[in-house]
Amino acid sequence: MLLACFLLVLILALSQPAHAETSKKAIVTTAVLNVRTGPATSYERIGTVTENTVLPVLAEQNGWVQVRLLDGRSAWVCGDYVNVIDASPSLKARVTADVLNVRTGPSTNYDRIGTVTLGTVLPVYYNVGEWLLVDLPDGRSGWISGTYAKIEYPGHVAEGRQVVVDVDALNIHSGPALHHPVIAVVPRRTVADIVTEQDGWLQIKLSSGLVGWVAGQNVSVKPSESGEGGGIDPSAPLFGKVIVVDPGHGGTSTGAIGFSGLLEKHVVLDISLRLAAKLSDAGANVIMTRKGDWTVSLESREIVANSANADLFVSIHANAHINPLIGGTETYYYKGKAASSASYRAAAQIQSELVKALGLRNIGVKHGNFHVIRETNMPAVLAEIAFLSNPAEEALLKTADFREAAARAIFAGILNYFRY
Ligand SMILES: [Zn+2]
Repeated sequence: MLLACFLLVLILALSQPAHAETSKKAIVTTAVLNVRTGPATSYERIGTVTENTVLPVLAEQNGWVQVRLLDGRSAWVCGDYVNVIDASPSLKARVTADVLNVRTGPSTNYDRIGTVTLGTVLPVYYNVGEWLLVDLPDGRSGWISGTYAKIEYPGHVAEGRQVVVDVDALNIHSGPALHHPVIAVVPRRTVADIVTEQDGWLQIKLSSGLVGWVAGQNVSVKPSESGEGGGIDPSAPLFGKVIVVDPGHGGTSTGAIGFSGLLEKHVVLDISLRLAAKLSDAGANVIMTRKGDWTVSLESREIVANSANADLFVSIHANAHINPLIGGTETYYYKGKAASSASYRAAAQIQSELVKALGLRNIGVKHGNFHVIRETNMPAVLAEIAFLSNPAEEALLKTADFREAAARAIFAGILNYFRY
């Protein structure tokens, strides 16, 4: 009977048509994960996959995920132990080292599967601390160290920066894709101002005044006289500071749900990306605990911060209360750790700037017994920007202007903290 059952399962498995891949990928989040012939633990185990393996998703059913294994077979894994991410990339990274190793997992202990060169722009799908999961030009996925790649934040203007042309003849297009007409051709070593960036393309302005678009991989961002840090004075307050920006929730954890449905996980990610861009521009070494809409445990946030030996940890949240009239801004620190007084100072600076910029009720700086600010060794704060449960504040949180103002205020608070 058992054998018959086994054979039936085997025949079913073998007779399955070759499934088309979806646009999703599953990333294994547990040390060793069983793979099975069907979507339940009653199905036969046909192997295991290890943590951080990236597998194309074929289907999802009842909390189980059908994936394509590295050997080409299809199999099912329990959805609790994978992060299913939409493989449309949210960010891009530009390689800043001459040659950068690509590995099978997020540390130098993993095998090297290739290299990428200076200036290559790669879509970022996922991150574990500073390690970025990228798609390579040949279609494979791999991990690169974020230390040697500059994140290009969406819509973030690279103010005051210039590029140098790296190819003999560079086509300048009228728009950010190859199909746009070529409006000029410039020789190697031409220098131009960066106007903005979009999808790996840079809008540049030549000294003649001509404005057009060039493919990012054909130019390099001009090194500044001071070398590292893109023109940042090494005596600047944030220069070289390791700052962890922790957007709350993500993936299966939505966080607070707004009065009309806005999700905390989306709002806080947007504010965090804006903050990270500002910190990075000011010369800080920014590590984000998540760069997209994916599930990250509290423990892994703690591990990322502690192993990076960060100078400051900033967690960003939006609040909720059962009473929709409750509103305001508050910032938490944790009292019972070595870095408590520094945590308090950082929280006070950030709270004061947030209140000044956003003009909401000042709830104040409070002690909070939250995992990420308790278990991190460095000064750590958790800012609750505004209340999603309050219709007026939710409306504000929906706007780009408000999110930008919040990011700017937190940045100002961080700057004050390191300055004074
Ligand atoms: Zn939250």
